[in-house]
Amino acid sequence: YNEQFAVKRQAEKYLHQKVTNFKAHPIVVEKSTSVYDAIVQLFLEDVGTLYAVDLEGHLAGVVSRKDLLRAAIGNQNLQELPVSVIMTRMPNIVTIFPEETLYEAAKKMINYHVDSLPVVKEVDKQSNTYLLVGRITKTTITRAYLELMEEKVD
Ligand code: ADP
Repeated sequence: YNEQFAVKRQAEKYLHQKVTNFKAHPIVVEKSTSVYDAIVQLFLEDVGTLYAVDLEGHLAGVVSRKDLLRAAIGNQNLQELPVSVIMTRMPNIVTIFPEETLYEAAKKMINYHVDSLPVVKEVDKQSNTYLLVGRITKTTITRAYLELMEEKVD
């Protein structure tokens, strides 16, 4: 019983760690980038999702593998088509703040059926604009779980 309790406490402690301590570098494209160049970028950076930003560097959209595949099976000129046409845009993007927890990140990814969340800071409350500071993926949560099981926590 005691051991079970200790494992649960450890898991809770782990999931309540801050997003900021686990976030990865976001892979970014400018929103006028072509779908063709975005596909190349996806392979070069070895990621599943790209984040699109506007000229001010604010988060404008999310471009996933399926978004790119959908565009590619249409008969469009991928060199001419900007990612802004195919991306999921603000305000429909599910985001997370650096001071939120891995638990909250895991819940959002499951509830919204997405593989990753952009980690953002609010530029100002009125304008609904966000600065991109990182990304959290399902891999992040899996890695945190492994670290827990390998007892790298004290
Ligand atoms: P995949 O396309 O590889 O299955 P996802 O499941 O993450 O990747 O994406 C599914 C859809 O959800 C795509 O249309 C994508 O643009 C969108 N999407 C991905 N991440 C987010 C997010 N954080 N917020 C809103 N929409 C997202």
